[in-house]
Amino acid sequence: MRSITILGATGSIGESTLDVVRRHPDSFQVFALTAMSQVTKLAQLCREFKPEVAVVGDETSAAQLQQLLAGEATEVVYGEQALVQVSAARQSDIVMASIVGAAGLKPTLAAIDAGKTLLLANKEALVVSGQLFIEHAIKSGAKIVPVDSEHNAIFQCLPELARQQIGTMKLAEQGIDYILLTGSGGPFRQLPLEQLAAQTPAAACQHPNWSMGRKISVDSATMMNKGLEYIEARWLFNCQPEQLKIVIHPQSVIHSMVQYIDGSVLAQMGQPDMRTPIAHCLGLPERLRSGVPGLNFSETGALTFSPPDFARYPCLQLAIDSCWQGQSATTCLNAANEVAVEAFLNEQIGFTHIAQVCARVLEHELPSRIDSIEDLLALDSQARQWTRQALEQVNNV
Ligand code: NAD
Ligand code: MG
Repeated sequence: MRSITILGATGSIGESTLDVVRRHPDSFQVFALTAMSQVTKLAQLCREFKPEVAVVGDETSAAQLQQLLAGEATEVVYGEQALVQVSAARQSDIVMASIVGAAGLKPTLAAIDAGKTLLLANKEALVVSGQLFIEHAIKSGAKIVPVDSEHNAIFQCLPELARQQIGTMKLAEQGIDYILLTGSGGPFRQLPLEQLAAQTPAAACQHPNWSMGRKISVDSATMMNKGLEYIEARWLFNCQPEQLKIVIHPQSVIHSMVQYIDGSVLAQMGQPDMRTPIAHCLGLPERLRSGVPGLNFSETGALTFSPPDFARYPCLQLAIDSCWQGQSATTCLNAANEVAVEAFLNEQIGFTHIAQVCARVLEHELPSRIDSIEDLLALDSQARQWTRQALEQVNNV
């Protein structure tokens, strides 16, 4: 029996995780569930999974949850410090990091510092802290397992030794030429470019293959998601620029690939359903049933591939450039994107403004080195302020 904490239990990844856990009552027990403000949903989950602790964002939500859970043994707490405490608590072995955005950084790092098995969905946490994130894991001995479907696919296609060296592996020494990160191209892949500016949040959130939270859905439409994943892959697999490529694969049957020096390409395939990578992470080294049906190859049709078009996806170019520019650039890009996407979802800016705003934020002079989490967080808030200024500028053009 292993004990698990799920950060962001009410989200899309949280739900998929609990769906897998529900299928294996003899293998997992839930220590803690957390959510920002979806109190009713969290209360339902607490009644079903009976965690020792439930964490919400603030005092008001905590009072509501407490009331809904009258008679249950679950202790209700709130705030960032409580999130950090449950992440590090000795009662759990596994922490699923599935909060969205840089808000997940502190609890994710707390789980790493406590040496947990960290199931990493919260890509923004790694994007904003990169080298420091990896260094914390090396120091504590925490085991990082990638949940993001592409990174999980790559992880499954790597040799055993590389899998044990997340963040420090040497791809060339493992006989690997490069990693191929696949992406569907999102809902606007074939839209005439001049129609992009008028796209609504509802249209951007209509992903052709995957059902996900709203922020990552917009990121998939701009392909900032693939950009963040590029940065995520750079850290997890310790890539050099020539070891990381992106290919558009609209059917989302192949979830990513590894090209070996002998000409072999290993791919991981499956339905576009996050329960597959989640079950893979939860089961290691064994395989678990996830509830996902097998692929029916007589229905998948043709699998197609093409290079990304950077005129359609300027956010992808910004992310690749930031990746090799350095930590300050990726931290600022992530902050700018979070603020811009929220403004887009609130209909304060148009779809194509997201890339324009991010580009403006990156024009600021950035610190050349960042040595601590405190400095990162300070830069993150500075970049959010720059973004709010840039939002006004694009709206006044
Ligand atoms: P979501 O919006 O559906 O859920 C986010 C969860 O985080 C919710 O439980 C919410 O209550 C919580 N949360 C939000 N803001 C918070 C804050 N400030 N403090 C504490 N908790 C907060 O998001 P999602 O689609 O489940 O994505 C979660 C993470 O997983 C993201 O980083 C995303 O990029 C990554 N991811 C998601 C998918 C997917 O299919 N949904 C796939 C790969 C990676
Ligand atoms: Mg992904």
